[in-house]
Amino acid sequence: MTQTARSLSSAYVTTSIPYVNGQPHVGHALEYVQADTFARYRQQIGHPTRLQTGSDDNSLKNVLAAERAGAPVAAFVERNVALFRGLADALDIGYDGFIRTGDNPSHRASVAALWRACDAAGAIYRRSYRGLYCVGCEAFYTPDELTETGLCPEHLAPPEAVEEDNYFFRLSRYGPALRDAIEGGRPRIVPESRRNETLAFIDRGLEDFSISRAAERARGWAIPVPGDPAQVVYVWFDALCNYITALGYGGADDTLYRQFWTDAGERLHTIGKGILRFHTVYWPAMLLAAGLPLPTTVFVHGYLTVEGQKIGKSLGNAVDPRALIDRYGGDALRWYLLREIHPTADGDFSAAHLVARYNTDLGNGLGNLLNRANSMLHRYRTGVVPAPPPHAPIPELAALCEGLPARVAATVGSYDPRAALDAVWEPVARCNQLVDEAAPWTLHKAEQAGDDAADTARGQLDAVLYALLESVRIVAVHLEPFLPAAAARLQAQLGIDHHADATRPYHERARWGGLVPGTRTEPPTPLFPRLEISEED
Ligand SMILES: [Zn+2]
Repeated sequence: MTQTARSLSSAYVTTSIPYVNGQPHVGHALEYVQADTFARYRQQIGHPTRLQTGSDDNSLKNVLAAERAGAPVAAFVERNVALFRGLADALDIGYDGFIRTGDNPSHRASVAALWRACDAAGAIYRRSYRGLYCVGCEAFYTPDELTETGLCPEHLAPPEAVEEDNYFFRLSRYGPALRDAIEGGRPRIVPESRRNETLAFIDRGLEDFSISRAAERARGWAIPVPGDPAQVVYVWFDALCNYITALGYGGADDTLYRQFWTDAGERLHTIGKGILRFHTVYWPAMLLAAGLPLPTTVFVHGYLTVEGQKIGKSLGNAVDPRALIDRYGGDALRWYLLREIHPTADGDFSAAHLVARYNTDLGNGLGNLLNRANSMLHRYRTGVVPAPPPHAPIPELAALCEGLPARVAATVGSYDPRAALDAVWEPVARCNQLVDEAAPWTLHKAEQAGDDAADTARGQLDAVLYALLESVRIVAVHLEPFLPAAAARLQAQLGIDHHADATRPYHERARWGGLVPGTRTEPPTPLFPRLEISEED
């Protein structure tokens, strides 16, 4: 890392931690890929970055699902956690930490530390409570939050009336402070509509919420309340803590906590819309009570339907992302989720669109460009990158490529991977046009003629070949946060040692002219072979 890079502030990016009561579906893949791209981009431009993910092991939902499956809870959870982790690995998610909230002594100790900090601030008290509880959401609902027929809005199932003695978090006290913080942009809530939704929720008046339940109702599968083992910590309090307990908050070594929470320039949570208020109201209020810094950004994605149907185990149409990866490859799934699915609105997953997107953009677009350019390099220049003659540049293409860092910064800065990839794809389209316009095969014929025009043609062919390959190199650098494996393969084909190159500062890598004349490229091999839609889809 250079001096410049080292001086950039650190960034902390998280996914939510899913319940592991079933196997992951394609919506989980979306969140993994978004968070991974946000983290990889920050890392690439020089921020020390940590990507955190994990699993919510302590959910009552896990207990109920295990009971239905007739399996011991621990073994059931273990098996499902492996599926989530396996998906993250298959998608090339570069996580630095994978926290499991169950069977984790340091998480337990950290949760207890945050509980005590809130308690010391007078934010926790005990009282009897009667409420409408949805087991699916593990949340209490007020009657006006239910559907017209009195059902949970998420699950369309009737909530249970539950009465018990619980500890409560004094949320009602934090409304004004939360409102001020959010209006001041801390956390920044993306998109704007979710920010407005949060403010409207605060303005309706905040009610204290239960943060414990009887140990008996939880089947003992949770973290005991400090000083009161008859009660366990309510799963939301426990789960939300993961973002800082994973960093060692309240533990003996809090180096990571200081670097990636208190001292971080960015603390970014990536979540789905269904858990908005937990992350923009409850969690910030817990942090305010404990006197800890708030997240800087909460990015909220929408829900995916699959071929027009809501994803749900009951509906049996939850597309298995591992099967998609086996069939079409991790690049294809990453590309589709980032390039086609709207980053924050609801979207519809379609295998046919995934295949079409991959074939159009990667197969026919970038893959074809590299293959044409590299084949001509091998045919006309024995596979060795020529020096571009100074008098025959392709200025428009160079300008397009050199404009990428600013454009990508603006679009990733607004959490819009699609817009970033629009920008990255402009040089690809322009290069494919250039091949047709410049007709390198005619230039090659002319350079062999041995007349006065031959030298000019030779210079022009050098310029065109260099411009094409250099554009592919710069596109590959900018693809790294989105398609890390494919970006490495592109660079390898250009004769670049990806690992060595990735240690150079981004601003140098992104500068036009970085492809060294004399570099020998690999023999042309199609990087994105055409996909056919599987009959199973
Ligand atoms: Zn529910």
